Amino acid sequence: MGIALTKQWTYKDDGTGPEHWCDLCEAFAIAKTGRAQSPININVGETALTTELLPLTYHYKKTEFDCVMTEAKVFHAYPKTDDNFITYNGLKYHLTNWHMHMPSEHQVNGGVYPLEGHLVHTNDQGGIVVMAFFFEIGEEDNKELKGLPETWLRARDKGETGAWTFNPIDFLGKERKNAFVYEGSLTTPPTLECVTWMVWQKPITLGKKQAVNLYDLLYGTIRPVQPLNGRKVTLY
Ligand SMILES: [Zn+2]
Repeated sequence: MGIALTKQWTYKDDGTGPEHWCDLCEAFAIAKTGRAQSPININVGETALTTELLPLTYHYKKTEFDCVMTEAKVFHAYPKTDDNFITYNGLKYHLTNWHMHMPSEHQVNGGVYPLEGHLVHTNDQGGIVVMAFFFEIGEEDNKELKGLPETWLRARDKGETGAWTFNPIDFLGKERKNAFVYEGSLTTPPTLECVTWMVWQKPITLGKKQAVNLYDLLYGTIRPVQPLNGRKVTLY
């Protein structure tokens, strides 16, 4: 008795890319039939400030991550311990992986950033909170990302699982507000609509050389923006 294999999804233009994910298998049909898909374009003028602060707390620490390339040739970093978590609306969500897309998947006022990072948190009920961060290119290297492109390059070229250490709190900065919050989906198959997105408005700086290394690894790993279908985006 084997488990039925689904066709491997990709970002390619060969019938297995984003426009065709919905046709690859039944479980992926939601990519087309869903009404709350991600990513989206965020029109800042149409967002509303939340009248009350969301009950959100962070419990992050310096953590070692395993850096690997997944089957779909997407690079992920998995924490070696499960003691990083956030609490959101009274529920505990553990950090389960960290990865990036190039260019950004979310757009702001129709504009694209060079890079977007996703910190993925999951709770016991299958609910997901993704913290998304935009990056812009600057002169200085980003010291939190030091060693990440090189570790992923080794994962690609030598099949190694590399270790990389960072503290997710460093991406949040000191002022933990100004995130766009909305209900959406995973941006990779199956694009299940179980995700609360927190897209942080202020971009993080990335060094030119780091961007070039990541370009080689990540460029084109995006799903196009999806219709809002009446969803509201709030500003936290
Ligand atoms: Zn992602």
